[in-house]
Amino acid sequence: MKFTSDKQAVPGKVYLVGAGPGDADLLTLRAARLIAEADVLVYDYLVSPEVMKLANPKAELIFAGKRRGDHALPQHELNLLLVKLAKQDKRVVRLKGGDPYIFGRGGEEVETLFAHGIPFEVTPGITAATGIAAYVGIPLTHREYAQACVFVTGHLKDGSIDLDWQGLARKKQTVVIYMGLVGLPVLCAKLIEYGLPVDWPAAIVQQGTTPNQRTVVGNLSTLPKLATDAAMKAPTLVIVGEVANLHTKLSWYGG
Ligand code: SAH
Repeated sequence: MKFTSDKQAVPGKVYLVGAGPGDADLLTLRAARLIAEADVLVYDYLVSPEVMKLANPKAELIFAGKRRGDHALPQHELNLLLVKLAKQDKRVVRLKGGDPYIFGRGGEEVETLFAHGIPFEVTPGITAATGIAAYVGIPLTHREYAQACVFVTGHLKDGSIDLDWQGLARKKQTVVIYMGLVGLPVLCAKLIEYGLPVDWPAAIVQQGTTPNQRTVVGNLSTLPKLATDAAMKAPTLVIVGEVANLHTKLSWYGG
């Protein structure tokens, strides 16, 4: 097996690593190796316990939080913690759910490392959208239904949702909404307001790629109530577009 990164442990470096959406089998080989070799792991709540089991039992584990409204560490403190740990000559793995560069603030963390002259590497992960698409049987593009796919966040810094609704409310396109559970009624209403049909297919998936995976498929007018009735729990991903209807045919994992 050949890895492109250094084989020997290099002290004083931060490895930003994508942990995938949940199922530990979805880690890259490189992520698995880096997790096993880390002196310190700084991890988010989205990183599954199965992934954490790959860490060296002697490694220091630091929980960085990030559930909605429960920030164990403010982002700027976390950025500086990574700098501090690296300066102690430690091999630091900053482990993030999914892919570190998709709605994970990985960019901000690496910018801080860069500003402090700390060496770093970034390992991609399977993002929630692609992991879930595969496990629930909703292809994100499909020649008949969607020639484009857009990833957006339903949760903004100040708590409001300010998206390019015109651009999102398009046919032949799939819209994947991260962090969209709380704002779901607003999201669906806006897409209808900007021109999508009330019966435009939409799905919500809870804890995708894990044994707790649950999927509810409806449309823009029914989905908010269906999600409430099903007591969907975070993390959830919303997929809007005609491809959502393929779930009934193509789901294979269960949930
Ligand atoms: N970097 C991550 C996303 C972080 S933002 C990635 O690439 O996947 C956190 C949001 O991701 C959650 O609120 C949810 O919308 C989505 N998410 C992450 N893992 C998920 C999972 N297993 N099931 C459903 N949604 C998930």
